[in-house]
Amino acid sequence: MRQNLNQATSFDRLPDALTRIPANLPLVESRRITVVFRYDDCNSESSIFLERNLIEAFRSHSMPFTIGVTPFVTSGEVDDASPCPAIPLGFEKIELLKHMVETPDTEIALHGISHQTIRPGADGGCTEFAGLTLCAQRERLDRGRRFLEATLQVPVTTLIPPWNSYDENTLRAAYASGFTTVSGDTNGFAPCGSPLQFVPFTCTLVGLKSAIRWARMSFDPAPIITVLFHPYDFARAAQPRPMTIDQLLNLLSWVRGQADVSTATIAGLGVRGADVSAERLDRYRAARGSLISRLIPGHASRSRVYGSTR
Ligand SMILES: [Zn+2]
Repeated sequence: MRQNLNQATSFDRLPDALTRIPANLPLVESRRITVVFRYDDCNSESSIFLERNLIEAFRSHSMPFTIGVTPFVTSGEVDDASPCPAIPLGFEKIELLKHMVETPDTEIALHGISHQTIRPGADGGCTEFAGLTLCAQRERLDRGRRFLEATLQVPVTTLIPPWNSYDENTLRAAYASGFTTVSGDTNGFAPCGSPLQFVPFTCTLVGLKSAIRWARMSFDPAPIITVLFHPYDFARAAQPRPMTIDQLLNLLSWVRGQADVSTATIAGLGVRGADVSAERLDRYRAARGSLISRLIPGHASRSRVYGSTR
């Protein structure tokens, strides 16, 4: 049940044939691609066994890692708006996260407060924030951020709204609460001139290799690829097949071996001065409809590369 918290946002899975790269496309030299790994749905109910292995996998490759934590996950169905008691992060999970943040280049992000929708999915999609007043959103964001910061003794500056769903009030409340960055999807609200940074997810673990290959051919001198994954990607029932920790380790090794690829946490992008402004997201959207984007199917689906293609 809660293993599928974000499946409502699952995107098209293209056949492999559509992500193959034509041999005659030119490579752009001197490119520096940045890959960000974003894991959602860590909460008191998510598998601590899996998360121990994930944390160890990233640590063993010295690979930055952003983990989206829900501090008070609902005890009911996430897509049911009926009132339900919340389950605070348990002792074991807190200890695991404390252990994780001892490693440099690991980031704790806020992934909702309860991850419970406030409206039926049929009424515009599940959301924990969109539609609430500014005050209500500010109260929730303050509560979640303060809990994580006080419990884990780390700054929490990235907001990952459940279902990647938020509105203008969410951005105002997030900024007022002390967040610097919102990580949703590439369709999220991002007004130009916003003081916030935007790091939308662009692909899945299985799409990462092709995303990197496409990034080498984009016109952006510094493409950013944000890889989103969930506990359910590792579940037996995952489609078309579950990811394993060994496969993840192999993927991380492959990424590590790419001379033109570096890695960062979501917060780390801002620290290193990457352009993750609303304007960049705006340029990306404008370019999505361009001929090159239509010629490169991966650009518009699981292998999307976040960056200006101008
Ligand atoms: Zn989620």
